[in-house]
Amino acid sequence: MNVAAILKAKGSDVVTVSPTATLGEIAVLLSERRIGAVVVMQDRKVLGIVSERDVVKAIARNGAQSLNAPVRDVMTARVVTCGLNDSIDELMDSMTMGRFRHLPVIEGGELAGIVSIGDVVKHRIAETVMETEALRLYIANG
Ligand code: AMP
Repeated sequence: MNVAAILKAKGSDVVTVSPTATLGEIAVLLSERRIGAVVVMQDRKVLGIVSERDVVKAIARNGAQSLNAPVRDVMTARVVTCGLNDSIDELMDSMTMGRFRHLPVIEGGELAGIVSIGDVVKHRIAETVMETEALRLYIANG
């Protein structure tokens, strides 16, 4: 199973914000949309990614006033991305190595979706269940 199969199931919608959005606005967005990260975009280009961890870190460091700070001050600018043909194993390696739970998908230079660790776990479990069932049938009929 690869990224294309994951996006086929979940869709290609990505919640994006401009670099001037405030951390307070991001907090509302993350809560309302029930997501853990948003992609920061300008002129159709990915500028960065900001997750709930960044919001918590900023508040821990500078208090509630950080909710007025623009997201460009706290986002991670070096975004690791994935492609439609990447496998679930590659996604898991990338998330484990980078210690993050979100991977924007880039296709033809454009943002084409986002995969979270929740999506990866869900599809990995589905794959394992299918393999187990195939083996069970093979043994039962063998
Ligand atoms: P997360 O585990 O996704 O909540 O993110 C943990 C930290 O990694 C935060 O500082 C994020 O800004 C950053 N981060 C999340 N996703 C990525 C990514 N794909 N590339 C680089 N940094 C990321």
